[in-house]
Amino acid sequence: MSASRDFKGGFSRRNFLISSSCFGAAMATVRLFPLPALAENVLQDKRVAAQPLIDKGFAAVRQVGTGIYATISDVTKGFTTVCNGGFIIGREASLLIEGYSGPSGAAFQYDALRSVSQLPVRAALDSHYHFDHSMGNTYYGAHEIPIFAHAKTPPLMIEKYANLQGQDKAPILAPLEKRVQDARDETERQHAISDLNAYKKIFAVIDKYMVGLPDHPLDPSKLPMTLDLGGTSAVIETYPGHTPTDIMVRVPEQNIVFTGDLLFNGWYPVAFDANISGWRATLQKFASFSKDTLFVPGHGQLCGQEGVANLRAVFDDLAQHASKMYKAGVPVEEAQKRYVVPEKFKNYVIFAWGFTVVPTITKLYEEFKAGTA
Ligand SMILES: [Zn+2]
Repeated sequence: MSASRDFKGGFSRRNFLISSSCFGAAMATVRLFPLPALAENVLQDKRVAAQPLIDKGFAAVRQVGTGIYATISDVTKGFTTVCNGGFIIGREASLLIEGYSGPSGAAFQYDALRSVSQLPVRAALDSHYHFDHSMGNTYYGAHEIPIFAHAKTPPLMIEKYANLQGQDKAPILAPLEKRVQDARDETERQHAISDLNAYKKIFAVIDKYMVGLPDHPLDPSKLPMTLDLGGTSAVIETYPGHTPTDIMVRVPEQNIVFTGDLLFNGWYPVAFDANISGWRATLQKFASFSKDTLFVPGHGQLCGQEGVANLRAVFDDLAQHASKMYKAGVPVEEAQKRYVVPEKFKNYVIFAWGFTVVPTITKLYEEFKAGTA
């Protein structure tokens, strides 16, 4: 795969500003809420530093364990990183987690690592193929850092991103625009606008940056795999759920997990290429981890087991609604439209209706039909 890796393009400051402003405009109607403060249980956790190492608004890096740092993004303050990630430093080497939504996001994290460690970087790891975790890979490539990812990540990045670069997106956007025009009421119109803007946002990113393919694809049948960083072991595991490409990093000795998007904290799950029953089983597995496990979710604030419980509750709520509708013979499109965000989740981020509620209910209907839910 290394032959397809292309670092020539780089990015200029000007390009970055243009793309982030497109991105910002497209994000304007997404249902966003500022990142909540650290929960009390996390604040009191002795592993978690009271002050961040660095805070740029769009993301803050904070020590969360011995040699372990979490990068937590706040998309209401900028789109340089978008997802969460972090890095792990042993006595001999370090590991970077996530490629972020562009090279400047990866640079931000690399600089944070370099402010505390000059040890060789063993690898950077993309938790899955999605643009907000991988479009900054070229920055790592330019620094000759190997990029680890699930074996299906490079082909999916080619199919979903590289193949669309420079292509006219109008034919893809046209039906989405038509849905906005044809909306029967305001709710439908808002959902259609959120979907249209999500696509515009993704297209703005993939047209601006070079696609940097991970050059160390990991065969899922050979996972888990342990990286010894010198006194600190980072275990790479794979679980079903968010995409067909999810891998995550666990530091078992310290009960710290970088979940990628297998865990969203305070967000509705982005589920357009998810396996819902597999994902719910994965969350059940997370719930069985030690009760003092500290989770660095793919999006949202650092959390303990309560973050896992919250996402499970969102899935339960969606499944309860879908089941009721399915049993009543309500068509799936109508069931998607009729879902109402309950009061307890009213401050949850919804990236776009068509990326979260719609595919979850669609897939639940399929599972009910197949008898697998
Ligand atoms: Zn993500």
